[in-house]
Amino acid sequence: MERALVVLSGGQDSTTCLYWALDRFGPSAVDTVTFDYGQRHRIELDCAARIADHAGVPNTCLPIDTFSALGGDALTDPEIDVAATPDEAACLPNTFVPGRNLIFLTFAAAYAYQQGIGHLVTGVAQTDYSGYPDCREETISALQRALRLGMESEVSIHTPLMHLSKKETVELARDLGALPAMALTHTCYNGEQPPCGACAACELRAKGFDEANVADPLLEAG
Ligand SMILES: [Zn+2]
Repeated sequence: MERALVVLSGGQDSTTCLYWALDRFGPSAVDTVTFDYGQRHRIELDCAARIADHAGVPNTCLPIDTFSALGGDALTDPEIDVAATPDEAACLPNTFVPGRNLIFLTFAAAYAYQQGIGHLVTGVAQTDYSGYPDCREETISALQRALRLGMESEVSIHTPLMHLSKKETVELARDLGALPAMALTHTCYNGEQPPCGACAACELRAKGFDEANVADPLLEAG
C-alpha cells in the first residue's frame, strides 16, 4: 500500500493538502508531521494537532530550533514586526524564512524514509502568493531530485496546490469535504483568534473565500 506524509502547518493550505491525501491515498495510509521551528504563534502547533485529530490521522511534531537562533525574519524573531502590507521595494516580505521549506521537506523525507512512506505532500504554491522562491515548482522538483539521490529512494513530493489560485484552493477544499476542518485552521500573521482580518495572510485568505463564494468556517466559528 502506498503511504503519504503530509507536512501539516495548521494553516488553510496544508489542511487542504491533508484532505487531498486522504482522498488520494485513503484514510489509513496518511500520516502528518508538524515542525516546531520557534514560530512566534504557538497556536499553529495546537491547530495542526487538532486538525489531524479531526481527520483521524496521526500527527508528529518535530523540533527545529535553528531558525529562531538565526533570527532576521518576522515569523521567528519577536523583534521584527510582521508588516501589515508588503513593502513594494523589498524583494521578499519579512515573513520569508530563508530555507524553511527546503529544511521541512528534507526532514519530512528523512522521517518518511524511516517509516517506509514514499510520498510527501506539501501545500506550497507559486500562484497568488508572496513570491517565496522555495514555493516554486522548479525548487520543489530540484529538491525531489536531490532527496532521491541523497537518500537513494524513490520519494515523490506532491504539490496539489502549486498552480491553483486562492479561489481554486477554496473550491478544492470544498470539493474534498475539508471545510469543517477549516474552522480549526490558523492563517493570521498576527496570531489572533479570531483572525485580525487586516494582515496580508488574512486578506489573502478572505479574498480566496470571497471569490469562491464560500463562507469561511473559521469566521463562522468565531
Ligand atoms: Zn491577520
